[in-house]
Amino acid sequence: MNIDDLPIRDDLRGKSPYGAPQLDVAVRLNTNENSYPLPDEVTDAIGKALQAELRDLNRYPDRDAVALRTDLADYLGHGLTTANLWAANGSNEVQQQLLQAFAGPGRSALGFGPSYSMHPLLAQGTGTRWIGALRDPDFGLTPAAAREQLARHDPDLVFLCSPNNPTGTALDPEVIAEVLAHARGMVVVDEAYAEFARAGTPSALGLIAGHPRLVVTRTMSKAFGFAGGRLGYFAAHPAVVDAVQLVRLPYHLSSLTQAAARAALAQRDALLATVEAIKEQRDRIVDELRRSGYRVADSDANFVLFEVGGDQKIAWQRLLDRGVLIRDVGLPGWLRVTAGIPAETDAFLEALR
Ligand SMILES: *Cc1c(COP(=O)(O)O)cnc(C)c1O
Repeated sequence: MNIDDLPIRDDLRGKSPYGAPQLDVAVRLNTNENSYPLPDEVTDAIGKALQAELRDLNRYPDRDAVALRTDLADYLGHGLTTANLWAANGSNEVQQQLLQAFAGPGRSALGFGPSYSMHPLLAQGTGTRWIGALRDPDFGLTPAAAREQLARHDPDLVFLCSPNNPTGTALDPEVIAEVLAHARGMVVVDEAYAEFARAGTPSALGLIAGHPRLVVTRTMSKAFGFAGGRLGYFAAHPAVVDAVQLVRLPYHLSSLTQAAARAALAQRDALLATVEAIKEQRDRIVDELRRSGYRVADSDANFVLFEVGGDQKIAWQRLLDRGVLIRDVGLPGWLRVTAGIPAETDAFLEALR
């Protein structure tokens, strides 16, 4: 008895689930988590916030998560308010809801690969036809190339990822402007790594006021070190928030998640203090790899994509044999490594040598 014996949907037959290996090794630099554990002051604050919710667990949570959305709007700035914000269990769920509301059966979503592997998987799960458009061979994307592929495919929803995972580089703002000017449907800019961008990299948040079909998704999984807490969100025109309410499960965001996320947001100075240290490690990895002769993509994120010069599967295994887990994202010849604490950078560079 296995999956094929079940009356599973035809379009899911033979497919594999998302699966970054979760291996128990000393140095885990494969899923772009924040390597710093939460500081005591933050765990104390989250503990108190959770405790305060416990008596009321007999009641459903605030379905609209108003207080949390207000705190998220306050964090983002850009003149955004509660009505512009929506939150769910990770930006993956937020993106799934966007596909359910704006794509789905009979509709299409387009992304420019190589990009985040969850975008096509979320499309698949929601019955959305996926269109794998392409970046240039050097992983760049020009406004003209983006426009040409949009015109050819006319998708109902476009994913842009900036800074892009797995390449690391932020999009030229002109690409976003070009896509907004020419896309017929929704434009979702995944900014999971925005807090790590190099100075002078604008966020698409500033474009929301003039573009009702633009959605900017964010997450607390990376810069905030809150991957286990599962909190992602988006900012968009209030009508987009109204639209996802048609597909979200009632009470999708538990009162514990809402309380923990609010406590973490209130402690954001302490949590985001690690961002600068991580950027330093990121820049160190880029510099050292380039000095050693590797080709490396520019990074605005907490990870670095580099060319190993050979079969990346073999290089990945050899690093793992030395206790360093990084990521084979399926790009022939390239591997991705997360920037963590200094000792992890040491271990990675030493293993690579
Ligand atoms: C890590 C990541 C996310 C985060 O997903 P969550 O569900 O919020 O943990 C979203 N988008 C991209 C591109 C990522 O790399």
